[in-house]
Amino acid sequence: MDVKKRKKIILIMLDTLMDKPFQKALKEESLPAFSYFLEHAQYFPEVVTPFPAISVNVESTLITGQYSDRHGVPALVWFNHEENRIINYGTNVIELLKLGLSKGIYDALYRLNNEHLNPSVATIYEDLHQAGKTSASINALVYRGAVPHQLKVPGLIRFFLNMKESINTHAPDEFVYGKLARLSSGRKYSCIWNKYGFNNNFSVQEFTCLIKAGKIPDFSIVYFPDHDKNVHKRGPMDVKGIKEMDLQLKKVLNAFPSREQALSENIWLLMGDNGQAVVGDSRENSLVDLRKLLSPFKISKLRKGVQAEDQIVLGMNLRSCFIYSLKPEAVPLQKIAEVLQEDSRIEMIAWKEEQYIHVISGEKEGKLKFSKNGNMSDEYNQHWSLEGDPHILDLTVEGKEIQYGNYPDGLMRLYSALHSHKGNYIIASVKPGYEFIGESTPKHNNGASHGGFHKDDSLIPMIVAGTSTKPEFMRIVDLKRWILNLIERDGDYNEATAGKIKSNS
Ligand SMILES: [Zn+2]
Repeated sequence: MDVKKRKKIILIMLDTLMDKPFQKALKEESLPAFSYFLEHAQYFPEVVTPFPAISVNVESTLITGQYSDRHGVPALVWFNHEENRIINYGTNVIELLKLGLSKGIYDALYRLNNEHLNPSVATIYEDLHQAGKTSASINALVYRGAVPHQLKVPGLIRFFLNMKESINTHAPDEFVYGKLARLSSGRKYSCIWNKYGFNNNFSVQEFTCLIKAGKIPDFSIVYFPDHDKNVHKRGPMDVKGIKEMDLQLKKVLNAFPSREQALSENIWLLMGDNGQAVVGDSRENSLVDLRKLLSPFKISKLRKGVQAEDQIVLGMNLRSCFIYSLKPEAVPLQKIAEVLQEDSRIEMIAWKEEQYIHVISGEKEGKLKFSKNGNMSDEYNQHWSLEGDPHILDLTVEGKEIQYGNYPDGLMRLYSALHSHKGNYIIASVKPGYEFIGESTPKHNNGASHGGFHKDDSLIPMIVAGTSTKPEFMRIVDLKRWILNLIERDGDYNEATAGKIKSNS
């Protein structure tokens, strides 16, 4: 009997792919692989990321179909109230090595997936496993699945940090996490100077192993991390990294018997993970030093950890920052907010008081207060009540309808960030052109950066080939449900199996 082959879904996450430079590169450069996909694809230039748009939050949102108020991974850096310490996952293992924090390494290698990512919220890999489907995670930082795996800790890390040789974890059926969990053998692309395998070439090498072995699972996420650093360094319009990604996509296509087969047998989702906003070239003006701004308060020092006399902790996430009051009686959030408001480079300052979220700005006069479940609705069918000046969040209000401007899905994205973890904190974000700095934070003046609330940081393009459907809304948070529906609809499911696949919202 001729059984129709079910299409596999391959999601390639192209770090920092953005619409404008992508369009420029398509015009001015030769991008044969991207062009081939685009000839057969739908193109969506503006998909909304979660806030802050930082890898671990974006990936957690993608695989859970929830914002951080549910999935529980707020950002790259945040303060754990119960443990009284800063969590910093680092952007890669090397960066953590530099910080020399064994706790930080363990946060990234173990706790991120096994503790911080809310265990009661199912990931797409767990849902698929339940339904008897297979999946792969290639080089993503957030990967929790249902299948036991081991991370092999490289000797150098073990030597310096006195760690165990292996760490038990749960991941999808096929799992690559740099050199620490891999499919291929050999040393290429995985040495310490290749960030232990956290690079595009390694991702391509590992995924093409699966293609050539005829083992592509029902759903795969393949992460290409390299372009982030190009844009940080050379600014948003950099196209060198886009050309490199095109060559790497070509290698992926070439691993199939033919390009036609690659396209006809699979659904391809090629997408960015976050945007980046320009950071001006003046060190003095473009970098907003929170230690100076908040000098009236006693700020916790990284190396010392939180001391009894400290009043404030900073959770720095490039263009946004969590600012925690350790002594809310003596140092109320409103007082910190008023100090921040004196700097016109800070475009958004928000905090929570009971059911209300308060928002002010260093750029605009006025204030806004909002809460969930009111009688007004936004373009995503979410309900709100608003009081005060909507222009603070660039909202257009007509009757009972709210429309977003410079801050897409702004109300829910702010709500989720302010409900993502325990503690008394403000979240603040700078205008395009600027970046926050603090103690040992990266500086990207004369380049670009992300993590901010603005649409420059928060919109990514998505290429969809192999299906004419699209998600209900153009947000990363809506992709999981759509992907599960695609897998459920396509091919030869029986009722019992299909019923098991459901998104958890
Ligand atoms: Zn980055």
